[in-house]
Amino acid sequence: MGLNSTAPAQQVTTALRIWDFNGGVHPPENKTQSTTLPIAQPPLPSRLILPLKQHAGAAAEPIVQVGDKVLKGQMLAEPFGRVSAAVHAPTSGTIVAIAPFAVPHPSGMQDLCIHLQPDGQDTWGERQRLDDYRHESRETVLSYLRNAGVAGLGGAGFPTDVKLNTPDHHPIDTLILNGAECEPYITADDMLMRERADEVIRGGEILAWLLGNPKIVIGIEDNKPEAIAAMREAASRCLVPVEIGVVPTKYPSGGAKQLTYLLTGKEVPSSGRSSEIGVVCCNVGTAAAAFRAVYLGEPLISRVTTLTGQALQQARNVDALIGTPVDELLAFAGLQPQQLGKLVMGGPMMGFPLNDLSIPVTKLTNCLIASTPAEFPPAPPAQACIRCGLCEQACPADLLPQQLYWFAKAKEYEKAQQFNLFDCIECGACAYVCPSFIPLVQYYRHAKDDIRKESQEQQKAEHARLRFEARQARLQRELDEKEAKRKARAEEAAKAQSARQQPAAVSAPAATPAAAESDIKALKTAAAIARTKVKKAEKALSAAQQAGESTAELEQELSQLTTASQAAEQTLAQAEQSATAAAPVQATADIKQLKIDAAITRTKAKKAEKALAAARESGEGDVAQLEAEFNQLNTIAQQAELALQQAEQAPVAAAPVQPAADIKQLKIDAAITRTKAKKAEKALAAAQESGEGDVAQLEAEFNQLNTIAQQAELALQQAEQAPVATAPMQPAADIKQLKIDAAITRTKAKKAEKALAAARESGEGDIAQLEADFNQLNHVAQQAEKALQQAESGATATEAAAVAVKDLKTLKTEAAVARTKLKKAEQALKNAEEKGLDGCEPLRDTVRQLQQKADEAQQALEQAENGSTTADAPVPAASAADIKQLKINAAMANAALKKAERALSQAEAEGTDISAQQAAVEQAKAQAEQASQALTAAQG
Ligand code: SF4
Ligand code: SF4
Repeated sequence: MGLNSTAPAQQVTTALRIWDFNGGVHPPENKTQSTTLPIAQPPLPSRLILPLKQHAGAAAEPIVQVGDKVLKGQMLAEPFGRVSAAVHAPTSGTIVAIAPFAVPHPSGMQDLCIHLQPDGQDTWGERQRLDDYRHESRETVLSYLRNAGVAGLGGAGFPTDVKLNTPDHHPIDTLILNGAECEPYITADDMLMRERADEVIRGGEILAWLLGNPKIVIGIEDNKPEAIAAMREAASRCLVPVEIGVVPTKYPSGGAKQLTYLLTGKEVPSSGRSSEIGVVCCNVGTAAAAFRAVYLGEPLISRVTTLTGQALQQARNVDALIGTPVDELLAFAGLQPQQLGKLVMGGPMMGFPLNDLSIPVTKLTNCLIASTPAEFPPAPPAQACIRCGLCEQACPADLLPQQLYWFAKAKEYEKAQQFNLFDCIECGACAYVCPSFIPLVQYYRHAKDDIRKESQEQQKAEHARLRFEARQARLQRELDEKEAKRKARAEEAAKAQSARQQPAAVSAPAATPAAAESDIKALKTAAAIARTKVKKAEKALSAAQQAGESTAELEQELSQLTTASQAAEQTLAQAEQSATAAAPVQATADIKQLKIDAAITRTKAKKAEKALAAARESGEGDVAQLEAEFNQLNTIAQQAELALQQAEQAPVAAAPVQPAADIKQLKIDAAITRTKAKKAEKALAAAQESGEGDVAQLEAEFNQLNTIAQQAELALQQAEQAPVATAPMQPAADIKQLKIDAAITRTKAKKAEKALAAARESGEGDIAQLEADFNQLNHVAQQAEKALQQAESGATATEAAAVAVKDLKTLKTEAAVARTKLKKAEQALKNAEEKGLDGCEPLRDTVRQLQQKADEAQQALEQAENGSTTADAPVPAASAADIKQLKINAAMANAALKKAERALSQAEAEGTDISAQQAAVEQAKAQAEQASQALTAAQG
């Protein structure tokens, strides 16, 4: 849809009520000079200077580089941020620089600009139209205007897309197109409306559509009849209702707030926007720019600018390319430099003087006044305020200009703000009427700048604080996350460590209590002494052999000392093993050695047993001595066998916590071995009752199976409960030699003690050295004494153990056999005496011996049956091995009791008959009590 719209014409209302605002002035208009000629198109300038910031908001961001060839209408800088506007190439050419340049500003400051060298071809780039905008989304059209660089052309250059993007909670009912153009000299809007009214109306339609189709009201001062007529005609072709509001000529009726009031009677809130009262006000030039962008695809690259002033030969309006240097435009209007006094950009009320003619025209440049000195004479010097109040009367914003002046001058900005400084539109009406010629607006602008700077500093500081706090929060958050991760890792590591330690704890040996360090030390000393004695005996034997002397006694002594040394070494090794608790499983080499030791001692015991048997049968030799030797060797063999069993049993007993599978297997093993032992026991009992079968063999089998069953039960018990300690086996030391060693070390210690005492009394000699010697010898003597005591205790216990371990049934058997032999011998003697045979005397001796043995066997039996508490039977000291066995028995009895109690509890819970379980518990209690008493008695 172009200018020749075929839409039905709308009724143009002219009977709009016009309100009036307070204040205002009527300066000379001086408009007719520039309206005699139509809008002209100046020639292409020699250079175009395009500031990146020609609008309110952030500067645009360049998207071209120096040397780039650009086409007319090509975007050179894109909007940056929400409030910004794009910049385009007004003609085709080359980017020759992107550098600071003087820009239109009262301060004469420089800003970053794109320097375009026109190529003279004025070649358009691709133009994208959006004439079917009504079928696009509102956001699409707003974005299109943004990228077209459309900004307000009548005031501060606010980006149009931002102004039209009103919040939903402020519905717009009126779009005002501002054609009032109240400031003197300026006729750009007047000429635009005269010549391009349709562009204004069509552009107004676009703006209204974006605002939700409110009514359009066009405000025009009554000093522009041609423009009013043109707009009325164009409005008649508008698609939406349009009202033409002709307002009285009074400055500043073109101010947005003032025109809004004039046309609607609504006041814009202090420090507020007109959208808050449902009104949006846009310049007619902005509407025309929107039309050209949407319908023609032309971004905002030019604007109508009034060139006026008496220094120009021909004042007129031109369609100036944005970026055209002022001097080139003025030259086009016939500038007479020699007559030029003051050059003003804008109007005489709100414009500002230019000192540099090379600065460019921007989107905001609506007028250039090249005045002569007579036209704009210098302002008289400012006088003191006479408090006339004319300024207040002239102020269209209902402010108190005099008070604002005082506050601004005194830099009392807070008070100035309280007096609504920022509602001042800087119209200059107050200064215009001030008889003291006080430049009031300059004071207001300076105060506003200071306040804005201070506010920006505060905002910067606030942003810096927020950034700092956000950064601190982020760092703290990161630290917390790291700490949380570290804790999680530590917990995982602890769990992993615990998991790793679990199997180690399972495999940690605990069956044998760790020997005290002092005990290990003493055992080491005893082992060293035993080794030394063996070496001495070896030397003595070697010397005797070399001398050709008898060596039998020395060999026997060497054998005994070697055995004692091996036993001491073995005891030491076991103690160290239990102390270090590092080797849960007995080393294979140790077990091998123990097997050898057990085999050797077993062989020796058997030899001794054979010798004893032979002596008994033949009646020759010292049977008592042989019997004592056999008992001793048999005890040693039993100890060696026990040590071997413990070593082989250690891996099972070492684990305080057995896996469930192992415990299950141990239970099965215990049950099987128990069953076998019971069967063997029954077979033995049957054989003993019937007198048939090999009772001795059955008895041996039972004992063996019973031992295995006990071991299995022990392993199971240790796995299920706390492991039972196994005491190191007491070595069978040479008591005689140990007594000698103890006496020697004791003597040496006493000598050292005497030497120390003499040195202390006399004060002579190295007392410290003597003291150290004494301590060392005394320690050796104590260790020797301890080793002797251990050896004596072990020997005594061994003898007692030999008796204790004998089974009561065995004693009965032996007693019965002895009695039988005695009876047989007595019968043989009786027969011989009855027959009067010779040689009865040997039989009588045999009867006496057998009588003695029978008495001994009977005595042993009676001691066993009566227990160890009999007054006439001395109580032998129990050995460590016996105590250990008793502990095992007590533990097993306790385990059986607990088991019976659990069975009883389960039966009670199930509600079944519990009589059997109760009986089992009573029986187990009795056995546990008996085992406990036996252990207590053995421990003394
Ligand atoms: S018009 Fe000028 S002199 Fe009069 S009160 Fe205002 S500032 Fe003062
Ligand atoms: S410049 Fe400000 S204070 Fe002076 S008349 Fe205009 S609005 Fe009022």
